[in-house]
Amino acid sequence: MLLNNSAIKILVLDDEPFMLKLLARMLTNLGITSVRTCDNGRAALMLVDSPECRPDLILLDINMPQMDGVEFVRHLVEHDYAGAVILVSGEDERVVQSVEKLVRAHKIKVLGRLSKPVSPERLAAVLERWRAPLPGAVSSTRISYSADQLRAAMVRGELLNYYQPKVTLASGEVVGVETLVRWRHPKDGMVSPDQFIGIAERHGLIDQLTEVVLTGALAQARAWRDAGLSLRVAVNLSMDNLVALSFLDYVVDLTSKAGVPPQELVLEVTESRLMLDQRVPLEILTRLHLKRFRLSIDDFGTGNSSLAQLRDIPFDELKIDQSFVHGAWGNERQRAMFDASLGLAKQLKMESVAEGVEDRADWNFVSQRGCDLAQGYFIAEPMPAEDLPAWLADWEERRAQLAPHK
Ligand code: C2E
Ligand code: MG
Ligand code: MG
Repeated sequence: MLLNNSAIKILVLDDEPFMLKLLARMLTNLGITSVRTCDNGRAALMLVDSPECRPDLILLDINMPQMDGVEFVRHLVEHDYAGAVILVSGEDERVVQSVEKLVRAHKIKVLGRLSKPVSPERLAAVLERWRAPLPGAVSSTRISYSADQLRAAMVRGELLNYYQPKVTLASGEVVGVETLVRWRHPKDGMVSPDQFIGIAERHGLIDQLTEVVLTGALAQARAWRDAGLSLRVAVNLSMDNLVALSFLDYVVDLTSKAGVPPQELVLEVTESRLMLDQRVPLEILTRLHLKRFRLSIDDFGTGNSSLAQLRDIPFDELKIDQSFVHGAWGNERQRAMFDASLGLAKQLKMESVAEGVEDRADWNFVSQRGCDLAQGYFIAEPMPAEDLPAWLADWEERRAQLAPHK
């Protein structure tokens, strides 16, 4: 089998010369033309630094005598590596899982894991997941921005909304979209929200940012409504938006001026840092609920979204964090946590959403478990509003083949 992405530049890093030869041969047989090998981390980092040789993908042996795989990944971050890795190891599954967590925590994409001895079929299957970054894709290089740069970007209108569909698992019906902000940076390309939301929160810019996102999302919701498309539109709120009661009137006012019924606006909340005084956020959220806005608890199950919030705030929707969803079908621990979260949602009569549904196996799993809605790359990546009609047409065809999995 020849891969369609044969132009990819791959680096194999392993301390055993035999493994290097073997993996390089397998890759060549798969039609990959640019394969380099290194037997130590130091040499590999030099390639990462060289503009011509910089790999798109690294096959990384976790166990190496000098610089081990985990340490190597830490250096990759310092060297602004923007590619992906495949973890190769003879260790048992639990260890590799922990390493994978660590790598993902560094925001480096893990394409998959291969256990030694590596079979060509398995290698090909993991490589199939590689996709070249699209021109509009979020850049994966991390750059630190200052508050002034972000402020200027907002003034210049460089923030724009992308939308990611949420669909029912029972029939594939599209019930809504989540608004995800991006910064179209004139030089750095698309910058992901993880790189600037924190700055906005720390420098008192989050209200201004939310205003830009919410205004855009409401205008878009109205436009879809006028075009006969009934879609709930979700917007992410930061806890820092909920520190003054004036925020409540502001949201109510903006929504009514846009001509969008409150039931069609979903407010997704995570606790990005510990709130000392819970009274004001609690009051704002409770009153928004009374006014029929839909409240959603985001990233449920992570440290930031807790049972206490669930106890105190009248949420309508529970989003199970992607770390309990993607791959849960093959992992007992993840599955236990997924089931527990879903059980809570059901008992509390909340709508459940599985985040991070990345492939057919994830879809089948969350569907079988009786989750209500799904969101993730398997369904669609976040997209500009103008791409939605074409995606909808395409989805109509795909969803027919996704009949509920028995
Ligand atoms: P979130 O609200 O949990 O949004 C889901 C994130 O998961 C998005 O990342 C989305 O692109 C990504 N995602 C979607 N499907 C998949 C999948 O199948 N697999 C994987 N691995 N990821 C998937 P994004 O757009 O980078 O946003 C990151 C976070 O930034 C959001 O997490 C949200 O907490 C925050 N954010 C985004 N927009 C805003 C905003 O307007 N205001 C605030 N306060 N926060 C925002
Ligand atoms: Mg969200
Ligand atoms: Mg989330």
